[in-house]
Amino acid sequence: MNTRREFLEDTAGAVAGIAFVGCSMVSAASAQAQARRREVVVNGRRVKTVDVHAHCAVPEAMALMGRKVEPQTLLMSQASDRIRAMDEQGIDVEALSINPYWYKAARDVARELIRIQNEKLAEACAANPDRFVAFATVALQHPDLAAEQLEEGIKKYGLRGVSVGGSVNGEELSDPKFHPFWAKAEQLGVLVFMHPQAAGAAADLQSRLRGSGGLENAIGNPLETTIALSHLIFEGTLDRFPGLKICAAHGGGYLPSYGARSDAICVTFPDRCTKALKKKPTEYLRQLYYDSIVFTPEALRHLVAETGSSQIVMGTDYPFPWTRTSVDHILGTPGLSDAERVAMLGGTAAKLLGIKA
Ligand SMILES: [Zn+2]
Repeated sequence: MNTRREFLEDTAGAVAGIAFVGCSMVSAASAQAQARRREVVVNGRRVKTVDVHAHCAVPEAMALMGRKVEPQTLLMSQASDRIRAMDEQGIDVEALSINPYWYKAARDVARELIRIQNEKLAEACAANPDRFVAFATVALQHPDLAAEQLEEGIKKYGLRGVSVGGSVNGEELSDPKFHPFWAKAEQLGVLVFMHPQAAGAAADLQSRLRGSGGLENAIGNPLETTIALSHLIFEGTLDRFPGLKICAAHGGGYLPSYGARSDAICVTFPDRCTKALKKKPTEYLRQLYYDSIVFTPEALRHLVAETGSSQIVMGTDYPFPWTRTSVDHILGTPGLSDAERVAMLGGTAAKLLGIKA
C-alpha cells in the first residue's frame, strides 16, 4: 500500500510545491480525481496557469519553404502528447508560438505561408479551446503585409497576440521600416511575443560561438534579445509607440541583469546617446514583459526587483526540455506574495491574452 508521501511524489511534482511553500501547494485530492492533471492552488485558490512560451510547428506551411519539421518540435497533430505534458507540469493553457523561419520569403510566398500557418493555429486552438491560445505569425520582412496579417490574425482567426523574432534578416526591430507593424500592434492592443532568432546576434559572432557549450544558443539567444530590447529603447521606438505590450523570451536575455549600465552610458558618455528619451532606460524595463525562464529563485527574485512582478509571465520553452518545473519555480521563489505568484503563474498572461479566468 502506498504511503501518503509516495502518493504525493507520484502526483507530478506535487511534493516540490509543498516542500517549498506550505501555503502554496497542489491540491492532492483534485489531482487524484483527474488522473495526472496537476491543479495548482495558491492559498486555497485554484489558479489558472498560463505558459506564454511554447513552440509548435505547422508542416504544411514549412513545406512552402522546403523545410521539414525538426523531430523535437511536436506537431499539432500530437496535441494529446502536449496536453499530457501540460497536465503533468500543472499548465492549464499554452500560448502557442512559431519561431520565424520565413523572413527570407518573397511577398507572395510569405502571404500564403502565413495564411496557412495562422489558419492551422486557429484550428488547433478551436480543437482544445480551454487549453490553447496562439500568437499570430506575420511576415515581418514585408512590414505593411505584416500589419495586415496581424489584423487578420486577431480579427479573423481569433489569435490573441503576435510573435516576432529579435531581428529580421540582420535588421533591427527599431528600424523605421517596421513602424507600420508596431503601429498596428499598438492600435490592436495585443501582446507581441519576441523570441530570439537562432541566426540573430549569433550570425555576426558565429566563429566565436563555435565549440563546446552550445554558445550560439546558451548566450547567443539571450544576447539577441538584449540587443533587440536595447535598440527599441535607445532608438525611441518605445517612446513613439508607448502603448506597445512586448514580452521578451528568456527573462529578457541579459538586459534586466545589468540594466543600470544602460542608464549609466548616457550619463558617462552623453554624446553617444543621440536620441532624446522620455525616460531612463531602466524605466522602460518596467513596462516590458518577460517570461520566467531564468532557472533559479535568485534569478527570478532579481528579475522581479528590476522589472516588477506585474511584468513576469510563466514560460516553459516547450517542447525543448530546459525546464519542467516552471510552476514550482514561481511557487518556490521566496519573498513573493500570494497575489504576485498568482499573477505570474497565469493572472497577468490571462489578461494580456484574453483568457477567461
Ligand atoms: Zn523558445
